[in-house]
Amino acid sequence: MNCDLHCHSTISDGLLPPADLVRRAAANGVDVLALTDHDAIGGLEIARRTADEVGIRFVNGVEISIEWNETSIHIVGLGFDPQSASLVDGLATIRGGRIERARRMAGELARIGIEGSFDGAMKYAEDPSLISRAHFARYLVELGVCADVRRVFESYLVPGKPGYVDHRWASLADSLQWIHEAGGIAVVAHPARYKVNLPSLRCFLGEFRDLGGKAIEVTSGSHTPEQTQLFARIAREFGFLASRGSDFHGPNESYTDLGKLPPLPADLEPVWGALGL
Ligand code: AMP
Ligand code: MN
Ligand code: MN
Ligand code: MN
Repeated sequence: MNCDLHCHSTISDGLLPPADLVRRAAANGVDVLALTDHDAIGGLEIARRTADEVGIRFVNGVEISIEWNETSIHIVGLGFDPQSASLVDGLATIRGGRIERARRMAGELARIGIEGSFDGAMKYAEDPSLISRAHFARYLVELGVCADVRRVFESYLVPGKPGYVDHRWASLADSLQWIHEAGGIAVVAHPARYKVNLPSLRCFLGEFRDLGGKAIEVTSGSHTPEQTQLFARIAREFGFLASRGSDFHGPNESYTDLGKLPPLPADLEPVWGALGL
């Protein structure tokens, strides 16, 4: 079964509308898709309807931005009730801070001579409350500051670079409470991507497990083969279920297309078993 449980639509910082994303997944041979927009679940209904039309299975998903020990981390929620007030209200509180963060980012960029980036980035965001660093990156490419978004992140939008500002996201405990109260399963997104050393990451994973977190992404569009092996070992060690997700954002921005990633290591227990699939 080809399961892809992590991707983005124009609801957050992806480049395809939810329905087009689902059709592309089906064309790529995906059997089970989860749409996991950042801090937003507004695309789930149309995505599910489209999945029904094209005959693939669909899992409700979201990717929640959190902060742990001053590190920004992403928690994917899967298989929840999208009507849950706890989840709906919790996600609204995170979105509430994004516009103000974007103003501060634009202020920092203006200090180094890049003017107008708040309005410029906003042109790329369908919903202003979901303004993301990815939208700033697209605007800086448009300006010709860098050749592609990857280079914009390297030089401008990450900690220590001039366009980065600190931000208070949700806490780990909040995010797991929202997911669990909505009946969902919590998954650590792309665990190799965080700016922490392995001992700190183990400490984080222990807290995540103590709070009821069940799974980690082992096969991810952003993992090297070595990182997949490392997180397979960590999943065995912690007793985590394993997830697989491309983190696809768009045809020309993501290296990994929907469903086009290796299978999970065969001995791991896939998270989709716990989702009743
Ligand atoms: P934000 O939620 O506003 O902090 O933006 C985070 C988003 O920026 C991620 O979900 C990715 O879509 C994008 N992003 C982060 N780092 C990189 C990178 N190194 N290259 C390309 N896109 C990135
Ligand atoms: Mn993104
Ligand atoms: Mn992420
Ligand atoms: Mn993602």
